[in-house]
Amino acid sequence: MSRERLYLFDTTLRDGAQTNGVDFTLADKVAIARMLDELGVDYVEAGYPGANPTDTSFFAEKRPMHARLTAFGMTRRPGRSASNDPGLAAVLDAQADAICFVAKSWDYHVRIALETTEEENLASIRDSVRAAKAKGREVLLDCEHFFDGYKANPAYALACAKAAYDEGARWVVLCDTNGGTLPHEVEKIVGEVCQHIPGDHVGIHAHNDTEQAVANSFAAVRAGARQIQGTLNGLGERCGNANLISIIPTLKLKAEYAQKFEIGVSDAALGHIARISHGLDDILNRAADRHAPYVGESAFATKAGIHASAIIKDPATYEHVAPEQVGNKRKLLVSDQSGRSNLLAELDRIGFAVDKDDPRLSRLLDEVKEREAIGYAYEAADASFELLARRLLGKVPRYFDVDKFDVTVEQRISAKGERVTVSMAVVKVKVGDEALISAAEGNGPVNALDLALRKDLGKYQSYITGLELTDYRVRILNGGSEAVTRVLIESEDETGDHWTTVGVSSNIIDASFQALMDSIVYKLIKSGAPA
Ligand SMILES: [Zn+2]
Repeated sequence: MSRERLYLFDTTLRDGAQTNGVDFTLADKVAIARMLDELGVDYVEAGYPGANPTDTSFFAEKRPMHARLTAFGMTRRPGRSASNDPGLAAVLDAQADAICFVAKSWDYHVRIALETTEEENLASIRDSVRAAKAKGREVLLDCEHFFDGYKANPAYALACAKAAYDEGARWVVLCDTNGGTLPHEVEKIVGEVCQHIPGDHVGIHAHNDTEQAVANSFAAVRAGARQIQGTLNGLGERCGNANLISIIPTLKLKAEYAQKFEIGVSDAALGHIARISHGLDDILNRAADRHAPYVGESAFATKAGIHASAIIKDPATYEHVAPEQVGNKRKLLVSDQSGRSNLLAELDRIGFAVDKDDPRLSRLLDEVKEREAIGYAYEAADASFELLARRLLGKVPRYFDVDKFDVTVEQRISAKGERVTVSMAVVKVKVGDEALISAAEGNGPVNALDLALRKDLGKYQSYITGLELTDYRVRILNGGSEAVTRVLIESEDETGDHWTTVGVSSNIIDASFQALMDSIVYKLIKSGAPA
């Protein structure tokens, strides 16, 4: 049976750029556009030429890609001709394959926000579509506030959509701009629209204000729409847009959609989707959402003992899809609740063949339990767990020793008369017979310590150059008689691998030091540094 083609339209670089705290540079936009193209989306909406210098320069040159590069813009302003509107001209002149216009489709907004007549708004839609088609562009129309508009005045909302379609727009996109529409409403309204405009010309653009943007996108597809608009990781203003990172695996792995539809994302590209999701977080310099469906670190993590023993027998018992299909991995959490089966499975995953009756296993389990009782969190710190296991099983080389370190924090008045705080660290390390002393300044004591530690490890330096700290989390735990500090450090290397290490102490510097040391030693093992 031949499957129907469903199209994916990404607006991470346009609608996603509206996110609070997100400010893409031109280089970011180019890098993200490349990631999207690699993923296999059909359209990359990269910005609004003429609206800001970054977007204008993005569209100033040809950027060849498989996806259709799309420029966003407004339809011609009311009361002007299409040929006499500088805003429209900037969009028409952009180096893009497609143009996505946004137009009002709620009569209330036409009167109040646009201060024009319903007929003039329709004429503006027709004129703009015609002008873009005359330039040889594929045309899309985003019908802003379509669902609210349709509820208030269905005939007018539909007239706006029809005006674009009749004029030759390839797609008419129904936008839930305020994000408050519910799935059953979307399904009903899209179904009604598809009686007037063929579904293979209808798109859905959902916002996540009731946390149903993904569900709304699927509801629209069920009702006949054949284009889904969304963003990587659901980026977008307020609560975000529909998350393509969740939508794509569902389309490819769930029979209801996979049997019926074909999308531009290959199975191989799907296997990279976790990396692409984390790649965007890296560009935004923020920690990945551990609980993100399909791609989060916890998406295939299992804790309780009975689940873990069942998962070892057959993963399908507790997994709705295989983690490898989306580039993720199964994780059995080692925690104070876990039994031997968790521990064995986790050791197996990291490449340790241990007999289930090996007496060292009980020692490791006891050690994990004891340490978790004083604040260590091994289920969040996979790399520290691996090191602990390797140490107890006698397999961690002694690469280097830290003889001593010294961290100072100084606050003083600068030459400009401003109060500044400067941190400095000095670390004395022994690598074999070689004694090395490194000093570094940092924006805080932990940062200074990290820089000094990684500055000179003698013969091991080349193995850790790609090591980078990507996240640092501190938690004060009130256990027993005194408060202790738990530090979790997330690291990354040149291969894109992530790992987390943990340190616990009543002193935050000491806790950080333990986690930093674990991360460096883990990286040395991972890179195959000779003992
Ligand atoms: Zn939007």
